[in-house]
Amino acid sequence: MTSFVEMLRVAFPAPILSLFLCCIIVTVCLTGDIMLTKVPLQSSSGRFYNSAIVRAFIDSSTHALVGFFVWAMVENSSLLTDWSKWFNCVAAAVLAASVDLDHFLAAGSLSLKKALHLSKRPPFHNTSLVFGVTFAIIVLNKWRPKTWIFALMFLSAWLSHHIRDANHRGLWIFPFGHTSLFSTQLYIGCILVLAFCVRLSTVLLTKPSSSAPAGNIVRTV
Ligand SMILES: [Zn+2]
Repeated sequence: MTSFVEMLRVAFPAPILSLFLCCIIVTVCLTGDIMLTKVPLQSSSGRFYNSAIVRAFIDSSTHALVGFFVWAMVENSSLLTDWSKWFNCVAAAVLAASVDLDHFLAAGSLSLKKALHLSKRPPFHNTSLVFGVTFAIIVLNKWRPKTWIFALMFLSAWLSHHIRDANHRGLWIFPFGHTSLFSTQLYIGCILVLAFCVRLSTVLLTKPSSSAPAGNIVRTV
């Protein structure tokens, strides 16, 4: 018990900052959801594209911001002393938003209308794939040290996207199918737990002398 408390102390050396980041993640999720409810599926003029583009922009931006702040939680207090760590957060944001590119890949077209009207969920939204790719990257760590940082960033970015999408469509866990929809409280809670677990993992995998993820993802991979 004492060692767990000690581990928490090492993992979260700035509790106020950690709490602040948790509040930002919750605010980003709720704000994104509320903004989406304000934009109708079709614009008042009946044109699909205007509202679809706005909705896609809000949704992708929210995914990116959630990915950004989940990784900010992982970098934690090192953000205050090493500005280059913010680039890692930007990389996580790009990763989190990139999941939705599969809509266009599956549609075989850059048309937003085709991308949003697929007959089934596109492949990057398969949560089993996230765990499979994360495991594969961790295996690569044997030949390329510190690749585990990228594995954790990929996991936090893509899984946070999947968990947020689960609010509308559930998690798709191949070959078992879909879970039921996640309530707002459940999906936000899961994203916070994800950030907490990934942060703890980085501390456990990093040298005891440092509580920050070892190095910058941009330089490491
Ligand atoms: Zn998505």
